[in-house]
Amino acid sequence: MSDNLQKALPCGCLVDTHRDFLGRVVGTIVTRGEQCPRTEHASGQVVIMPGREHARPE
Ligand SMILES: [Zn+2]
Repeated sequence: MSDNLQKALPCGCLVDTHRDFLGRVVGTIVTRGEQCPRTEHASGQVVIMPGREHARPE
């Protein structure tokens, strides 16, 4: 997969994904979802992407 993809989180936020220095996929919040309940999902914040598909390759 590409290391730079825009993805929508389940909460509605749009993030730019990339890998951090540990190989995890993280997302930088681009647009906050209108229904998003997470206060940490402010524009410019970096969050670790959830889910098995984003796990570090073995
Ligand atoms: Zn959110």
